[in-house]
Amino acid sequence: MNAQTQSTATAGFDPARVRRDFPILHQQVNGHPLVYLDNAATTQKPASVIEAIANYYRHDNANVHRGVHTLSDRATQHFEQARLRVSGFINSPRPEQVIWTRGTTEAINLVADSWGRANLVPGDKILVSWLEHHSNIVPWQLVAAATGAEVIPVPVSESGDIDLAALDMLLDERVKMVAVNHVSNAIGTVNPVIEIVRRARAAGALVLVDGAQAVGHWAVDVQALDCDFYAFSGHKLFGPTGIGVLWGRESLLEAMPPFLGGGEMIETVSFAGTTFNSLPFKFEAGTPNIAGAIGLAAAIDYLDGIDRVAAAEHEAGLLAMTLELAADIDGLQRVGTPAHAAGIFSFLLAGSHPSDVGMLLDQQGIAVRTGHHCAQPLMERFGVPGTVRASYSIYNTHEDVTRLFEGIRKASSLFG
Ligand code: PMP
Repeated sequence: MNAQTQSTATAGFDPARVRRDFPILHQQVNGHPLVYLDNAATTQKPASVIEAIANYYRHDNANVHRGVHTLSDRATQHFEQARLRVSGFINSPRPEQVIWTRGTTEAINLVADSWGRANLVPGDKILVSWLEHHSNIVPWQLVAAATGAEVIPVPVSESGDIDLAALDMLLDERVKMVAVNHVSNAIGTVNPVIEIVRRARAAGALVLVDGAQAVGHWAVDVQALDCDFYAFSGHKLFGPTGIGVLWGRESLLEAMPPFLGGGEMIETVSFAGTTFNSLPFKFEAGTPNIAGAIGLAAAIDYLDGIDRVAAAEHEAGLLAMTLELAADIDGLQRVGTPAHAAGIFSFLLAGSHPSDVGMLLDQQGIAVRTGHHCAQPLMERFGVPGTVRASYSIYNTHEDVTRLFEGIRKASSLFG
């Protein structure tokens, strides 16, 4: 154990112990112990999450909310208990404000489509930052095309921070929605959401926060943020894929029309007219991802056993070590130098294409992401086609960072 690892462990958080809870990490990939640094794409799952999903299918599997039999009752209880867990986790005033979706993408599409079509008129404006993932741009473009509203990008500075002065200039009475991420998946910027909400609200606009990259790093409190909508995916929070959450302000959700039609979301159906179910079911047409919700609740249970403040400090330590080592590599260019960054490091190596660097790292058992990270406007803003991205999580260690830089040095000597 090196000095840095030791100091992290004594601060109340031991990544080596956490690491033991994640079975997938203990394997060789291409003849090397796996170093998993693609956490912004998806996080790995602790054994307890895998077991919770398997146990559900082994013992309780049934459809929810409709059967009178015991298994259906058990499945419903676990499923609604999971909603309660999520509600507490994000400090929602009421569990009815937690809507299950397939993930962040579907959550944002739900708001853009349901709220947008009901509220936007020609000439209205939706502000989205240049930092956004495509899933917080394209749904707004679709609803803008359908309603005559306009999507306007909010500039980001050379460092990759949202330009708040430019935001102020853009905020006029035609702005109905400001959609920003909490953390940029491409370069790690942590956005000053509370400040953005304050400014947007003063101008009469709503705020949707794409929290896909935030929930895995620290405790999110939707009431403290004071936003109107918050979206995230279970799979970036140590839970399964195919489950996510839209949290919304109750009065807004109540007033919004359904997004998808079908079973579960109705009160009565007749050819004379259909009435809709109450929250949250109005937005949950069809059989939901029951196992996914249960798996997500197990992930939250897992996180409850971890000192998350110390975990975030640990990740910050990994990023600090990364920046120190990066400074010694000739031809390494960090893309984005945000004032406050989560554990995400995006870079280019002179003379090499990001995908070549990624492949060389993979040969050494190091998993990183390369490409535009579903943030093409941001890549355009920085004048790069894409980057190599290493993203850290609670189970990464200083040894992982050391291995990453051994790989980068090798790439640099080969391509540089
Ligand atoms: N927003 C951000 C910031 C993301 O990082 C991602 C996933 N890369 C998404 C939205 C989309 O999440 P999902 O694919 O789980 O819907």
